[in-house]
Amino acid sequence: MQDVLIIGAGFSGIAAGKKLHEAGKSFLILEARDRIGGRVYTKRWEDGFYLDLGGQWIGPTQDRMYELCQEFGIDYFETYDTGKNLLDLNQRIRSFSGLIPKMDIISLVNLDWLMKKMEKMAASIDPISPWSHPKAKEYDSISLEAFISQNCKTKACKKVIRLACETVFASEMNEISLLHALFYIRSGTDLNTLVSIKNGAQLHRIQGGMGSVAERMCKPFENSILFSHAVSSVKQSDDSVTVFTENNSFTAKKLIIAIPPPLAAKINFNPILPANKRQVMDRIAMGQVGKCFMVYKKPFWRDKGFSGQVLADEHSPFQTLFDASPKDGSMGIILGFTIAERCRAYFKLSKENRQKAMEKQLVSYFGPEASNPTRYEDFTMTDEAWSRGCYAGLYPTGAWTGFQDAYRATNGHIHWAGTEAATRWFGYIEGAVLAGEKAATDIVLALADTGD
Ligand SMILES: Cc1cc2nc3c(=O)[nH]c(=O)nc-3n(C[C@H](O)[C@H](O)[C@H](O)COP(=O)(O)OP(=O)(O)OC[C@H]3O[C@@H](n4cnc5c(N)ncnc54)[C@H](O)[C@@H]3O)c2cc1C
Repeated sequence: MQDVLIIGAGFSGIAAGKKLHEAGKSFLILEARDRIGGRVYTKRWEDGFYLDLGGQWIGPTQDRMYELCQEFGIDYFETYDTGKNLLDLNQRIRSFSGLIPKMDIISLVNLDWLMKKMEKMAASIDPISPWSHPKAKEYDSISLEAFISQNCKTKACKKVIRLACETVFASEMNEISLLHALFYIRSGTDLNTLVSIKNGAQLHRIQGGMGSVAERMCKPFENSILFSHAVSSVKQSDDSVTVFTENNSFTAKKLIIAIPPPLAAKINFNPILPANKRQVMDRIAMGQVGKCFMVYKKPFWRDKGFSGQVLADEHSPFQTLFDASPKDGSMGIILGFTIAERCRAYFKLSKENRQKAMEKQLVSYFGPEASNPTRYEDFTMTDEAWSRGCYAGLYPTGAWTGFQDAYRATNGHIHWAGTEAATRWFGYIEGAVLAGEKAATDIVLALADTGD
């Protein structure tokens, strides 16, 4: 019998495995896919070209990610952030510098006031227990959409805050409760950090791709990862847990579940999990985002004084675009994020038409050179059976106050990890690592208590 079984070889499962390995515990990681990384996916082509199709950025206060990079000697570099940004609003394209786009004065004042208001509200939330806030019920009874609508006095202000929120949460604003939005902001430090490159969550990219961090982390125990082992059911007894895959079963003293909540909800548990856990798992839905990459011989927009960053309203398939070129600028890559409704509409098109749509958009921003790409790639985890969406699980109205910490609570020998079990950097890779490490540490301590 193993000490521990882990379901999922994403960052959370791997971080748990790393801790258990260091503590000398025996364990197996059961992974449904034929690769590690989960929502982090560095795809490498035969010609050496690679792209981060899933999570790619780290930034200040994501301390574990920087520690891991240091531990493994992994280089990271700053996201290109020099030159004019563009705002594509009401079919007019305007340039601006810094974080806040140029708009009419009333919209600017409104936007500044609203962002400060959200910062203040989020700062008052305890990320360990968002339901304990004196106004938790009030905040959890309305959607982020309702709150934004109440507080935006101009259409332009609403459009800009909408596309910032859609980019941060990877959802429509009516899909999440205001309390979840405030918790998410607080758990990732503050709104300014979440939306920024400079001093923000988009500051650094990993040389060689984010996948290389996961690969280095699990190198010492790579033989303990069993691929194509999708877990379909879990049976718990007084002193052990057995998990079942299509052709095998495995037993251990403890189990860590490190998978997205909607996939955990599909596992058959015997005995049945407590009602609160089942109910909250059934409510947490995944966000939806597509990453689209247009590749050029060189980052030509830089010579024209553009940063490559664009904020665009619903006339564009993309809420936001970034310069995602390699560190040495040896080629130019523009990355577009298409989110929620725009993502659903975009991926209905054929790949050829998606490329055409992105090209058209980029020509309007950066000029005719944009019509000469060398390559186009796109990807959405929404279509992946073992992710079903991204960046993360979203709490709708009533879920935080109704079920509190039910999702991350231990159930007998079953411990819960994954970024959705994190209190710090929920939804991010940092959160996944912290939650995996916590589950593993709790288990090491519990096993020590029983003399194991
Ligand atoms: C497009 C995109 C962009 C993002 N950008 C960023 C970013 O820039 N920075 C950032 O910090 N975060 C980003 N994120 C979020 C980040 O990638 C995730 O929060 C994080 O990777 C989640 O890790 P995890 O280990 O909790 O879950 P996952 O990565 O989802 O890992 C779960 C693993 O479990 C496996 N699995 C699922 N069900 C089963 C089953 N029944 N049996 C066995 N195995 C199973 C899956 O195959 C998967 O490998 C992004 C995500 C996406 C998709």
